[in-house]
Amino acid sequence: MNKTMSKPIIVAIDGPAGAGKSTTARRVAERLGYVYIDTGAMYRAVAHAALQRHIPLEEGAMKGLVDTISIDMRNTPSGPRTYLDGVDVTDEIRSAAVTNIVSTVAAMSGVRRSLVALQRHIGHAGGVVMDGRDIGSVVFPHAEVKVFLIADLDERIRRRTTEQRERGLALSEDDIRSQIVDRDRLDSQRADSPLTKPDDATVIDTTRLTIDEQVEKILDLVTTYRKTYDLISNFGGL
Ligand code: C5P
Repeated sequence: MNKTMSKPIIVAIDGPAGAGKSTTARRVAERLGYVYIDTGAMYRAVAHAALQRHIPLEEGAMKGLVDTISIDMRNTPSGPRTYLDGVDVTDEIRSAAVTNIVSTVAAMSGVRRSLVALQRHIGHAGGVVMDGRDIGSVVFPHAEVKVFLIADLDERIRRRTTEQRERGLALSEDDIRSQIVDRDRLDSQRADSPLTKPDDATVIDTTRLTIDEQVEKILDLVTTYRKTYDLISNFGGL
């Protein structure tokens, strides 16, 4: 049997806000026939639940909340959808109110522990492309393919501004700049699982790349992994 055809792998894609993770990761998953999991959407769902239920943003209360809600990620023909206690919150979790608090929520160890457990449960068998901040470093440190996407700040702001306008949200570029800068700072400086590039991740600077080019680069990494794995398997190394 050709093991390379059958072995479902984990593709971990990390990087800061606006580096192009979600669109690229989703397309890579489609091309591989894999499940796509946007872990940022999970943290956003918890932040949305906290706002809805007026939960104070402190560790004890948030840990209590995260243990009582259910988050469900579904890949549908119209794209990935996020469900909170059975209710579709895909659009609500992109609100400015959620974006403003999500990094504070995501810095709480109790919240991270529950969501990381859920992410491992979803992805442990492979056949998954997962994007976030700590997938290659903490959630799946043994992921077969690890990518770290980066892009210039101005380009990230431009992308987020276009995205927000397409959603009909009227945030100014200055607002988006401060949102991104604040989130970068909180995500990179938090004590638990900060945003860092794992040593064995491949960095792709997307500033001047199209989505198609980013997708092809990641698929090339998957192909290289498979060829190497195949070679080692054929020599009885695995
Ligand atoms: O990817 P997105 O920008 O939607 O993520 C929202 C927030 O969720 C991030 O700014 C970060 O604070 C948090 N996050 C995280 N770990 C992940 C994914 C997202 O801390 N794996």
